[in-house]
Order: sequence, then C-alpha cells, then structure tokens
Amino acid sequence: MLIFEFLNSPLIKLKQVGPKNVEILTNLLGQNKIFDLLLHFPVRIEKNLFKPKIYDTKDSDLITAIFKIESHQIPNSTKQPYKIIGYNPSGYVTLVFFKIYPTLLQKLAIGKEVAICGKIQKNFNGAQIAHPLYILDPKLIDTIPKINIIYPLTYQLTQNFLAAKINEALKFLEQNPNNIEWLDQNLIKQQNWPRFVEALSKMHHPANEIDLLPDNKARKRIAYDELLAWQLAIFLSKKTIDKSKEKIALQNNLADKFLTHLPFSLTAAQKKVITEIKTDILSQKKMLRLLQGDVGSGKTIVAIYAALLMVAAKKQACIIVPITILATQHFAYLQKFLEKFDVKIALLTSKTSKKQRSQILSDLENGKIDILIGTHSLIQDEVKFKDLGLAIIDEQHRFGVMQRVKLVAKNKNVDVLLMSATPIPRSLMMTLYGDMEISILDQKPPNRQEIETLVISQKRQAQVIESIKRAILRGEKIYWICPAILESEVSELISAESKYQELITIFDPEIIGLVHGKISNSNQEKIIDDFANSQGKIKILVATTVIEVGIDVKDATIIIIENAENFGLSQLHQLRGRVGRDQKQSYALLLYGPKTGLNGKKRLAILRNSNDGFMIAESDLEMRGSGELIGTKQSGLPEFKIANLNFDTNLLKIANKNARLILNNDQTLSSPQNQIYIELLKLFNYHQCLNLINSG
Ligand code: ADP
Ligand code: MG
Repeated sequence: MLIFEFLNSPLIKLKQVGPKNVEILTNLLGQNKIFDLLLHFPVRIEKNLFKPKIYDTKDSDLITAIFKIESHQIPNSTKQPYKIIGYNPSGYVTLVFFKIYPTLLQKLAIGKEVAICGKIQKNFNGAQIAHPLYILDPKLIDTIPKINIIYPLTYQLTQNFLAAKINEALKFLEQNPNNIEWLDQNLIKQQNWPRFVEALSKMHHPANEIDLLPDNKARKRIAYDELLAWQLAIFLSKKTIDKSKEKIALQNNLADKFLTHLPFSLTAAQKKVITEIKTDILSQKKMLRLLQGDVGSGKTIVAIYAALLMVAAKKQACIIVPITILATQHFAYLQKFLEKFDVKIALLTSKTSKKQRSQILSDLENGKIDILIGTHSLIQDEVKFKDLGLAIIDEQHRFGVMQRVKLVAKNKNVDVLLMSATPIPRSLMMTLYGDMEISILDQKPPNRQEIETLVISQKRQAQVIESIKRAILRGEKIYWICPAILESEVSELISAESKYQELITIFDPEIIGLVHGKISNSNQEKIIDDFANSQGKIKILVATTVIEVGIDVKDATIIIIENAENFGLSQLHQLRGRVGRDQKQSYALLLYGPKTGLNGKKRLAILRNSNDGFMIAESDLEMRGSGELIGTKQSGLPEFKIANLNFDTNLLKIANKNARLILNNDQTLSSPQNQIYIELLKLFNYHQCLNLINSG
C-alpha cells in the first residue's frame, strides 16, 4: 500500500533533505525512515503571548505584538547585525538581523506598522528580538499560531526545518486517503483511541501542555502499536528458538574441572543455577534462560561454566556485552580463570585493529577460537562461527530482541543465556518476554562488605568534600553521578558539566575525569580506562548514568549520587553496586535536592535500609504502580521509542494478550487478513523475525 511504502521510505524522499540532512536526522531519530520522523513527538509547548505590555514581558517569552518602525541602524561591518527599532506604546523593541534581505527591508521600512512574533530577549539595552518568526501585516496577526511547538533537537537542526519536514510527511498521509488499521474495532472503541494516521497527526498538533502528557489518547494508541509489534516479534522469534536441538555430547569434564580449581567455593545459589543450566544445555530443547542476580552475586563464573560445557562438546560460545570496557574486563577475567586450561578466548570490539580483527574472524571460522567475547560488533554478518553452540548476553536489557535474534541465527542450534543484574519481578518478566526460563542468584558470596548508604541533603556538600579528600589520601576512588549533562534553565538538576567545573576549583584538575553521553565514545572509554586502572591519574569520576553498566573498579569506595530523588530505586541500587568491589568499606551518598518532599526521602530510605535488589525492585514497581512517576530511564526494563513501561504496563498486558490471540490461529502471520500485522512489524523494524521463520 502506498502509505506503508511512504512510511518505510528513507528520509531522502523528503524535499530539501540531502545526504547531510539525512545524516543529521538519522542521528537524531536513530533510524533513516520517514515513520521514525513521525514518531519524533514534541516535548514542549510555548505559549505565544498576544499583544502583551512590552514592559511586562520576561526574558525569552514568545510574544506577538504590533510595532511601528522608527529607524534602521545600518552596521559598519558585515560582522555586526542589522538593527531595526520598532515602537509600541508599551515599549520599544530592537529587531536584530544577522542576515537581511531586500524584501525584509521593504516590509520593515520606516513608518510602517507590522505584526512581529518572536522570542524576546531582555538585557540592559532593553528588549530585542533576533530574527522574528513572523513579520506580517497587522491585519494578518490572527493567522499567527497561538502556541509554538518545540521538538527535541540537535544543534545542527532548527525547529522550523524539523517541523516543516514532519508536516510534509503528515500532509502526504492526509492527502492519500486510507483506512489503515490493525487494531480491533472493539479495542479502539473501548479505549476511545484515534485511528492510526489520525493519532500520528494529533501528536504533532497539541493544543496545550495537557496534550503532551502520557495520558493523551493519541500517544497511548501509538505506544500500544509499538508494544503490540514488540510482543508479536518476541513470540515470532521464540518460535525459532523453541525448536528442538541436536543433543550434544561432552568429550571431557573441562567445565567441572574448572569449578574444582576455583580459589573459592561456589555459593549454594550458584550451584543450583549451574545445575539448571547444565540440564538445559544437555537436553534436546534449545535453552532460553534468563539469569538474574544482583550486582556482585557472581554471574560471570556461571557464564564461564556454561561456555565451558560447549567447549567440552567441541562447540563455540560467545559472550556479548554492551560496552568495550566491560568486554575488556570480562576478557581479562576469563583469561585469569582459564589460564591453566586449554581454552582459546578472543576479544572483539570496535577497538580491535583491522589486522587483529581479520585474524580473529578467520580463526573463528576455522574453529580455532573457543570463546569469543565482544560488543555489538559481534553481531555483524561478517562474524561467522564454525559451530556456535551458546550465546551469552550480559546486561541483556541493553540489547533489543532483534539483536538477540541475529546472534542466534548464526548457527542452527544456539542456546541462549541472558544475564541481568536488575531483578524484574517474575510476573512482569513473563509479560515482557513470554515464557522464558528464569534462574535466580539470590545469594551473594560470603565476606562481602555491606555498602553503607547515607541519605543527605545537597546542602551538606562541604562535608562530603572533606570525606572525599580523606578517601583520596587513602588511595581510594570516587564516582560522582549527576542526573543531567548540561545545565538547563528549565530544570534544577545538577549537571555533570557544572559539577566538573566546580570540582576542578577544589581539587587538582588532573585527578578529575568527566564522562557523559555528549563526550565521544573513544574519549569516554579512555577516561574510564584510566579511572579503572590502579595506576591511573583519575581519582574522581564525574559522570552521568553512562557508567551504570557493570564496570569493576576495585579501588572505588565512594559513590555520590546527586538528585538521587530523581532516579528509580533499582537504578540507584545498580549505581551503588559500582563500589564495594573489594575488601574496603564503601559508601553510597544519596544527595537529595531542595525540592524533595517527605515521600521522596522515604523512598530513598528504602535503599538505606536494604541491600536486597529484588526487594528494592518490588517496592520500586509498587510505588510506580501507585501512580508515582520517577525518573523515566528505568534500568532493567527495555526502552521503546514511544511506549514507556513506567506508565504503559497496562497497555503491555493488552498487547501481550492480543499478540497471543493473533498468533494462536496463524503462527507465521501468513493468512491474507494478517498481512496488516506484517506492515506493523515493518514500521517498527521488527520484521526480521519473519525472515528467520521463513528461512528456518
Ligand atoms: P556480577 O553478578 O555482578 O556479574 P561478578 O560475576 O562480577 O558479579 O562477581 C563479582 C566478584 O565476586 C568477582 O570478583 C568474582 O570473582 C567473585 N565471586 C564470584 N563467585 C564467588 C564465590 N562463590 N565466592 C567468592 N567470590 C566470588
Ligand atoms: Mg556482571
């Protein structure tokens, strides 16, 4: 159908979008596709103040008013702006132009009256508007929109351009009449949802702030579409995984020998989980098992054991992790523990040199490598195994279902072990991922230092600094986590940039590192590497939650979390697991901001009183269930473009039920009336799971 073809087209199809803009937009949207542009919803609405008293306006108000042009100030050099002074009975305004055209000069000739709309800037010189959004005949003032819709942007784009492209796409949909609908009429009626195209259009034309809230019917509907596509994809991909596999035969007792050579004895939980995994691997059913265990519960040993079972059966295993430093740490860890054994391990990341990489790829194909550890680069098509038997996915929530599917497609009989440190309650887990087997490490190795958690006001920073100074003298390291990257006018959250600027005036700048999402990946890794290295210079790492994933810095003993009230409890628990990795007493300092109420402090007290990740996750969910909305980035739960499991779990339940119903009668979506679901899968980029079914 024409509309689907259009929605799935690359962005270059749009007018005035060339390769450069495609690149910028793709970076912003994460996908080079018109549908993804339409899923880029506004974040905010600015009220356009009509005919305000100029003296009443505040800096950065958006205003529309009529001015009489009094004079022009022509610049002496091209570097200076062209200025035009306009008069209104309630105050003067200076219109500032860094570029001016003859047509504009005519419109703004001295003596003319014009309606101007723009953002007002106020300083000691008075009020000015740089490059007004509208300059019109006063008779047309009512054609100026009463609100200005703001989209999330990157600095290379303008609001106007982005809005124009979105409107161009919407116009195409409106001009091509259609009745696209995959949802059941009853569901639509019952929920009072708009139809698909109408919902897209509504999201981009909010009338007021209320329309931007998560409750908006149009958003709910699209979120449901996304969750339905996701659930269909999960069930479809499970169809390939559920199949039986050839029984493997262990040629030796490598895996068990590894256990007897460990410098410690396994916890009872590790023993139990290892038995569960062994049974799965030796069975004739493909394994799909999630290993959940709190930070530090010893999942890696379990993973190595599983990999060694494969090696003993003369097959290969791989371990995939989300970031390079984690891959490097795993690699070093495996090397250490497998030193005495004849097992070949290799590391493949985006940092691996070309030469090494091609060596690894050929060794892998020839079966010279037993266990491959790596990041996303492991998924690429060029990475071919001789005989992959097991894929282990660490920090599994960082990977999408499609990435998992691609990995598993590298061989016929691949077992899958997913690992996660974020305990998601079983009931939610089942809805999220269907019936996968779950193993739980509910016990930590003995002799662990409990991390002492303190909940304190941000006002007490001076004291915090003093204790840090002492820790540094003891040779210890500190994480300083901030919720935001940059300072912003709209939020009072502490930013990593400003905290860094502050700390370099207190400490030697050499010992402070800064990492956040706007710093290039290679620089981030350099800084984290230095911090993780016991010989490194950096003692204080100021960071956003980019460091959340299981990195291991033995000397780190203090983690400070700014605006802790803004994070989910599970996420705080994860973050706090960055310290206490050795024998030294470690501390988590949860600093709360000035606006934190009694409830917020109560929430944080849960962390002070408990070190049990499962219990924390349960309370976290309960509180969110009861309507309290905390930090949107909840670690452990998968992230979506539109849907958000902080407030869409009810939709997930419906999607889960309906996806089952749909597939019950037609397991591969091959009947004509189900073709529409294939279109839905394509829109949300989940259709690869169908190729797999058809090819396998
Ligand atoms: P996580 O579950 O967070 O991935 P790791 O596998 O990194 O935890 O284990 C954390 C630390 O505990 C590692 O240094 C590991 O060697 C150690 N460890 C694992 N199992 C045991 C055990 N049974 N007894 C003592 N130490 C253990
Ligand atoms: Mg781990």
